[in-house]
Amino acid sequence: MEEYRRFYHSKERFGVNNTTSSHSDILVVGGGVIGLACAYYLARAGQSVRIIEQESMGAGASHGNCGLIFVSDLPPLCAPGAIGHELIRTLQGTSPLYIKPRPDLSLAFWLLRFAAHCNRRHLKHAIKARDAILRISGELFSDLFADENLACDFEQRGVLMAFTDPSTMVGYEKTNRLLEPFGLAATFHDRKSIRQIEPALNERVCGGWHHRADSHLRPEMLMTAWTRAARDRGVRIEEGCRLERFDTRNGTVNGARTNTGRFTADQFILAAGAWAPAIGRQLGVRIPVQPGKGYSITMDRPAVCPTIPCYLVERNTVVTPWQSGYRLGGTMEFSGFDDQLDERRLSNLEISAALYLKTPLGRRVTERWTSLRPMSVDDLPIIDRVPQLGNLYIATGHGMLGLSTATGTGRLVADMILGRPLPFDPLPFAIGRFG
Ligand SMILES: Cc1cc2nc3c(=O)[nH]c(=O)nc-3n(C[C@H](O)[C@H](O)[C@H](O)COP(=O)(O)OP(=O)(O)OC[C@H]3O[C@@H](n4cnc5c(N)ncnc54)[C@H](O)[C@@H]3O)c2cc1C
Repeated sequence: MEEYRRFYHSKERFGVNNTTSSHSDILVVGGGVIGLACAYYLARAGQSVRIIEQESMGAGASHGNCGLIFVSDLPPLCAPGAIGHELIRTLQGTSPLYIKPRPDLSLAFWLLRFAAHCNRRHLKHAIKARDAILRISGELFSDLFADENLACDFEQRGVLMAFTDPSTMVGYEKTNRLLEPFGLAATFHDRKSIRQIEPALNERVCGGWHHRADSHLRPEMLMTAWTRAARDRGVRIEEGCRLERFDTRNGTVNGARTNTGRFTADQFILAAGAWAPAIGRQLGVRIPVQPGKGYSITMDRPAVCPTIPCYLVERNTVVTPWQSGYRLGGTMEFSGFDDQLDERRLSNLEISAALYLKTPLGRRVTERWTSLRPMSVDDLPIIDRVPQLGNLYIATGHGMLGLSTATGTGRLVADMILGRPLPFDPLPFAIGRFG
C-alpha cells in the first residue's frame, strides 16, 4: 500500500516535474463561459477539475458580449434566403456582415457549407435542437442563481425586437409563427404601444415584438462571480497557461503540454471557443468553426435608458441596459484572428442606436471591445466526445448563443463524462454530423 501511495504521488505517474497537483480527473482547455460551465457541473459532481486559460478567465468572447439569455432565438443564421438577404444589405451598405477579401481556403469552404445549410429542412431541424438546449439552459440558469450567490445584474424583462421599417416588421410575423409551437411567440406592439412599454425608443420606431421569456445579465460580472463559485467548489484555475499540444497514446489523450508545464487528467475537454479548430487540427480532428468578430461599446446609463434589452432589427444591433451600465453590441466580421478595434464598426453601433433611441449614448464610455465568436457551419454548437480519442470531449461552435446555452452545454458534457442520463438529445450536436 505504501509503495502504491508513493507511486500515486510520484513524478513518474504524472510525467512532470511539478507536484501531484498537476493531475486532475478532468482538464478543461479554455476559460470562457463554456469551459467554466463544464468545470462547474463536474466539480459539483465531486470531480477534481482544472481549467487552463491562456490569458485570464473570460478573456475571449465571454466578456463583453451583449449578455442576453436569448431562449427564444430559435431560428439559425443559416435560414432560407439568408444569403440573398445579406447580399442585398451589403450592396445597400446596411449589412452588419463583413467578409474581408483574402485567400483563405478554410473560410471559403466554411461559407459554402454554411450556404448549403440555408434550407427549410435545416431550419426545422435547427429550431428543434436549439429549443432543446436553450430550454434546459434557461432552467439551469434559474437553478444556478438559486444555488450560488452570483452578482451579475440578472433581470428577466424579455427582449424587444424594435423596427423602423414597417414591411420588415410585418415580415417578422413569419419568424414569430415558427416559435408558436414552442410557446415562445412574441407579443406585437404598434407604434404607440411599443413606446408605452419602452419609452426610451424614439419616433422612428414603428413597432415591434416583445419576447417575454428572455432575460439578460452582465457577462463579465457573471464570469467573475461564477469563477469564484467554481473555485469555492474546488476548481483549480491556471491563468496565463496556454495549451501547446495534447500528448496522445493508444487512442487517448494522456497529457496537455503548456507554456507552464505538463498536466495530466483522466478526461479532457476542449472548450477553446474560436481557437478550438487549430488545436483539433493537431489531433487530426476537423472542427468546422470560423471566428466571427463582434464589437461592443459599454458606457454609463444614458439619461433616458431603456429598461428592456432591445434588438434593433434592421441594424442587427443589441442594446442592453443594466443597473450598473449600458452596452451596444453587434456586427459579424469574418476577418480571421484579427483582434484590432475597427473604428468604423464601433461608430456603426452608435449610429444604429441613434436611429432607434431618444438618448442613444451614455456620458462616459467605459470599454470598447471586440472578440471572436466560434461560428459553426450549421449554427449549432458542437458538443461531443471525439470518436477517435476516447477521453477527449469538445464543446465549441456556440456562435451568437454561447452565454444562453452555457449551462445546458456544461451539464450535457458533465453527464456524458459521468455516464448519467443526458438532459437532452445530444445527436444534433454530435461532431459526426459533419462527415
Ligand atoms: C458582440 C458579441 C455579442 C454577443 N452577445 C451574446 C448574447 O447576447 N448572448 C449570447 O448567448 N451570446 C452572445 N455572444 C456569443 C458568446 O459571447 C459566445 O458564444 C461565447 O462567449 C463563447 O464562449 P466560449 O467559452 O466557447 O469561447 P470564449 O469565451 O472565447 O472562450 C474561449 C477561451 O479559450 C481560451 N483559449 C484559446 N486557446 C487556448 C489555448 N491554446 N490554451 C488555453 N486557453 C485557450 C481563450 O483565451 C478564451 O478565453 C456574443 C458575442 C459577441 C462577440
